[in-house]
Amino acid sequence: MTEYSIIPRPASVCCLTGSFECPGIPNIAFDSVSDFNNEARVFADQMRDFGQMAGSAVIKLIKDDMPLEAYRLKIDADGVSIRAATGAGAYHGLQTLRQLILSCYDNGVLKIPCGVIEDYPRFPWRGYMLDCSRNFFSTNFIKRMIDALSLHHVNIFHWHLTDDQGWRLPVNGLPKLTETGAFRREYRHEDRLTGGFYTEDDIRDIVTFAAARHIDVVPEIDFPGHASAILAAYPSLGCTGGPYHVEDRFGVFHDVLCAGNDAVFDFAASVFDSVVRLFPSQFVHIGGDEVPSTRWAKCPKCGQRVAKLGLSNHAGLQSWMTSRFASMLKEYGKTVLAWDEVLENTEKFPLPENLIVMSWRGREGGSKAALMGHRVIMTPNNEGCYLDYKNADELEEPGRLSVNTLFQSWSLNLIGQNLNNDAAQFVLGGQGNLWTELIYAGKIAEYMTFPRICALAEAFWSNDKSKNFEEFKLRLAVHQARLDKLGILQYREI
Ligand SMILES: [Zn+2]
Repeated sequence: MTEYSIIPRPASVCCLTGSFECPGIPNIAFDSVSDFNNEARVFADQMRDFGQMAGSAVIKLIKDDMPLEAYRLKIDADGVSIRAATGAGAYHGLQTLRQLILSCYDNGVLKIPCGVIEDYPRFPWRGYMLDCSRNFFSTNFIKRMIDALSLHHVNIFHWHLTDDQGWRLPVNGLPKLTETGAFRREYRHEDRLTGGFYTEDDIRDIVTFAAARHIDVVPEIDFPGHASAILAAYPSLGCTGGPYHVEDRFGVFHDVLCAGNDAVFDFAASVFDSVVRLFPSQFVHIGGDEVPSTRWAKCPKCGQRVAKLGLSNHAGLQSWMTSRFASMLKEYGKTVLAWDEVLENTEKFPLPENLIVMSWRGREGGSKAALMGHRVIMTPNNEGCYLDYKNADELEEPGRLSVNTLFQSWSLNLIGQNLNNDAAQFVLGGQGNLWTELIYAGKIAEYMTFPRICALAEAFWSNDKSKNFEEFKLRLAVHQARLDKLGILQYREI
C-alpha cells in the first residue's frame, strides 16, 4: 500500500511488476464522443500548472459499468487507463493519478510502478466548511482550496457566508446587507474597516469551478442568531431596534432576528430567492446555532407570538422559525440542513421532516437525530473535525479554544457505538470545519486545514477495518511532499 501512498487510502491496491515510464506528463485522450471531456479538461489544467504536458503516452478514460463515484485506475507498462461510470468516478480516478504524478515525476521523467487501484467512497457526504464571515477570503483563494480539497475526493464545500462579523452574499432588494453588513471595524484598529462581499459573478465562478471538480457548493445563511451584520444593515429586524453594529468581537450575541416581526420572513424570502438563484445545490444550510432567547423574552412582539402559538417558553420560538424557514425552502425543492441546536425546544414544533442535522457539539445531537430517522452529517468538535483548534497544545501554534491533533482527525469514526445499524444508515458523512475568528489570511487557513483534512478525508472515504496510524503517517510523509509541490502551507508534526 505504501508504494503508492495515496490519501485517502483506496479500497484496494494491487501492485504489479514493472513500471510505466514517460518523458514528460502523458497527454489525456480527448475524444468527441467521450463522456469525460470535462474531467479531462480540468485534469489537463491541473497538470499544466504542475509541469509540461509533453508526454507521448496517453491516459485513457473509459466508461464502464460500476457504482457511482467508483473508479478503476490501471497502470501498466504500455499506458494508464481509468474506468468509471460517472464523471465523479472518472474525476476521483484522475485525482488519484494526479497524486501519483505529483510524487513520481522527477527531472522531466514520469515513472509510476505498475498496479491496479480499485476504489469507491464509504460515505456520500465528504465536506469541508470555510467561514468567510469572520475573515473574508478572495475568490482566488477559495478556488485554490476547492482544487486542493478535490485532490482528496472531498465533494462538499460548505460556504459559511453570514455571521455577526460580516454578511457576504448579494441579495436583490436588500443593498445594505453588502453596503453596511459586509464591513466591520478591524480588530484592534478601530479607525479601519475590513471585510468584503462576493458579487453574483464571483459566486457563479466559484460554483462552476467547484462543479467541474465534482464539489457541490452548499451555502449557509445563519438564521436567526449570529445576526449582528443583518441588524446593522436593517435594525428594524431586531427586537430592540438597535442601534447595532457589525461585530468586531467573537462569541454569541444576544441580539438575534425578532421572532415576532413578520418582516423577518419577508427578509428571509428575499435572501432565499437569491440563494436559490445563485446556488444550484440541492442543499441549503440555515444555521440555527447559538441562539439566545434573552431579547425574545423581553420583546412585546415576541411575547405576542409566544401567546399566539401557545408556546410554553420563548426558546420554543426558534423551532417555529426553523419550521418556517424550512418550509419556505421546501417550496423551491431544496433540502435544508441546520446545526444540532435545532433539536432543542421542539415540543410544539418538531424538527421539519427531511431536515439534515449537522452534529457539531460532539456526536450526541447527530446520534439522537439519526435514531429519530433524520439524516445526519457528523462534524463533532471534540473528535477532530474542528480545524480552528490548535494542531498542538503549544503557544507557538495558531488556533483557539482547544486542541485537535492530526491523530484525532485520523481516528474519527463517523458511526459511533451508540448507533444501531438502522440508525447508522442515516449518517450521510462527515465534515471538517474551519472557523476563522483568528485566521486572518489564506496562508493560515491552509496551515490549519492541511494535513488534518487529509486525515478526515480518509475517515470519510475509506472503509479500512485495520486502520493503523503509523501506516497512515508513512503515506502522509509522501503526500505532504505533494502538497508542498502545490505550494500549500501545512502543519508538520515535529
Ligand atoms: Zn422580538
